[in-house]
Parts: sequence; C-alpha cells; structure tokens
Amino acid sequence: MAGFEQRLGAALQQRREQDLFRERLTLDSAQGPTVRVDGRELLNFCSNDYLGLASHPRVVESFRSAANTYGVGSGASHLVCGHSRPHQELEEALARLTGRPRALLFSSGFAANTGTLTTLLEPGDRVFQDRLNHASLLDGGLHSGARFRRFAHNDVADLARRLGAGDGPKLVVVDGVFSMDGDTAPLAELAALCRQEKAWLMVDDAHGIGVMGEQGAGSVQAAGLDTVDVPVLMATLGKALGTAGAFVAGDELLIEGLIQQTRNYIYTTATPPALAAAALAAVELLQEESWRREHLHRLIARFRHGAADLGLDLMSSTSAIQPLLIGDARQAVLFSQQLRERGLLVGAIRPPTVPAGTSRLRITLSAAHSEQQVDRLLEELGKCRCP
Ligand SMILES: *Cc1c(COP(=O)(O)O)cnc(C)c1O
Repeated sequence: MAGFEQRLGAALQQRREQDLFRERLTLDSAQGPTVRVDGRELLNFCSNDYLGLASHPRVVESFRSAANTYGVGSGASHLVCGHSRPHQELEEALARLTGRPRALLFSSGFAANTGTLTTLLEPGDRVFQDRLNHASLLDGGLHSGARFRRFAHNDVADLARRLGAGDGPKLVVVDGVFSMDGDTAPLAELAALCRQEKAWLMVDDAHGIGVMGEQGAGSVQAAGLDTVDVPVLMATLGKALGTAGAFVAGDELLIEGLIQQTRNYIYTTATPPALAAAALAAVELLQEESWRREHLHRLIARFRHGAADLGLDLMSSTSAIQPLLIGDARQAVLFSQQLRERGLLVGAIRPPTVPAGTSRLRITLSAAHSEQQVDRLLEELGKCRCP
C-alpha cells in the first residue's frame, strides 16, 4: 500500500501533467478594480467583490471603530460568550434585508452549508441537488447520510421525475446564481414543483445577494418568493458584501433548530465582532447606494454587448460572473497568462472545479469598475484571440 508521501507526490505530479496545478497570487494591495501583484498594477477581473465594498471607507471605518470597542478576538463560540452586540445587530439587519423572521451567522459559507444540510437531513431522507451546485452543498448532502441525487443543471423536468417516487422528507438544493457559470436557477418553477411535491427548497445565494433583487436582497426576492416558498436561504458575506462569513435566514423553527443542533455552529469560535460591524455597514450601503447595483448591471450589459460584437463565446448569464468558455485546460491557462502580461487579471477555472473539457476564463465585473476599464478588457480579449 502506498504511503502518504507517495500518494501526495503522485497527485501533485498528475495535476502538473494535466495543466491542473494551481498557484496562489500574493496581493500587495486591497481588493479593488486594480490590484498590486509582483510590483505591477493589474486590472482585476476575478474578484467576487461585486459591489466594491471590500475596501469601502465606511466598511473599513466600522471595522476599525468596532475593534476599538470590542477588541479583535470574539473569545468564544456564540453559545458560550462569543455572541456580541454587532453579531446580534447584523443578524437582525440580514433578517430584515431578506424579509425573514430570523437570520443566523456562520463563520463561512462552507460551514453554513455543510452545517445546515447535516442538521436538516437524516439517513432515509432524500436530498436532490443541481449538478453544478457548490462543493460545500454537495459535501453537506453526502455527509448527511441522506439518499443523495443530482439532477441535470437547471432541468426542472429532470428533477420532477426524480422527486415523484417515494416518501419521507425531501430537500431540493440549488445555487441562486451558479458560481462558475453565472446563470440563475429557475427559482419560481422550482418553488412551484417543491410545493406540489411537499419538498423543502434551499437556495445558496452566495452570488445573488447584493447583486440581484430590490435593495440587493438577492435571487429569491427577485423571483418574488418568500419564506414559505424557500424555507432555507443561505448567503455569504465575503462576496458582494465585501467582508467574510455567511448566514442562513428562515423562520423561528429553522433558526432555533440550527442554533441548538448544528455542530459547525456550536463548536466553533464566533468571528470577530468588528467583522460583523463591517458587514453591517455593508448591508446599509446595499440599501443606501443602489447606484452600485445599477452601475454593475450597466457594465454587465456593456460587456455582453461588446463581447457579442467581437464574436466571443460567452455563456448565458445576467450576473456579475461572465465566463468565457475555452474548453481545454492548457489553453485557458495560456489565455489567462497572456492577459496578465497585458496587465489584466482574469482567472482560468479548470477541473475539478468545472467538468472536464469546460475550462473557462471566469471574468467577474464589479461596481468599482469604470466603463473604460470594461472597454479595455474587451479590447484585450479581442487581441488575445480567445474563442
Ligand atoms: C463562495 C461560495 C460558498 C462558500 O462561502 P465561503 O464564505 O467563501 O466559505 C458557498 N456557496 C457558493 C455558491 C459560493 O460561491
């Protein structure tokens, strides 16, 4: 039997040979439309800071001022003595934003998803997930011990065929906006099917919160759905909200159930109170500065229009995620390197993050970009002969 060293070594070698080896960039600046890497300013088209709030002065100031009052470490888990006033106020603001009775903070989206799914589901239950769901949803479903089914991407008819047979609790889980494709789930149709089949619907709106819906309340609100239609709403704070962490919003029964039973909630240290204060400022900015969302959507339209003129193979997306399908992993990396030499940072996304043969440039737009910066991106994409 191979030891750990051989196994790790073989896996690394295989990734190198298949052009799937990943390397981290080290940034010497805040997130923004431009970032500093290796002494160069690069135009940034790969961050999830969709509204440009990660380094917004008011968000930074809230963080600083709460750190003065509350220090840095939260000191304990929420159920011991780590739950402070900023955490409480943020939960209340997130409940109001999403139009739900309550919200509960988690230290990351990954923890929120695996925690929620393993709490809700028991062996014998059935969970149905879109093929392209985020890894944390898939892991949570698998670890729960429930019978786990994946349905074809955004295919409500395929889900309906699978849901029909059998009884016992059923949970359908989708991303609101898919993280690597940028397209949106057919939430109204999914909710109607779930109502008919008496299944619960859970939506992970990591990429919809802040970007979709009135006041940035997200994809569920944009689809006109409420807590009865979508009992479990999860979203993260590390993307459009520019900070870190995540939350689940729902009714009293769900939230109290999670507080009492979810191991990822109970047995982990609460995030710093100052982080909650910063996220609270970001929630206020969502509501006060709707121009950010409007500007972002104008940039998305501008980019799609320009890309169509260039004949680029854009995927179908109305979100801030505008992937350019390349196919081959090596080719995607080459395009990404080419763009970087020209001063643009665009991520190449390869398997296992996306299915084999669908490597892509994952272009993300932000309200912090200017029209000129988007035009520059189009110009460089035109020159690099991406398909
Ligand atoms: C980023 C992301 C997560 C994980 O959230 P983190 O807070 O980064 O752990 C979960 N689901 C989706 C769809 C995501 O894109």
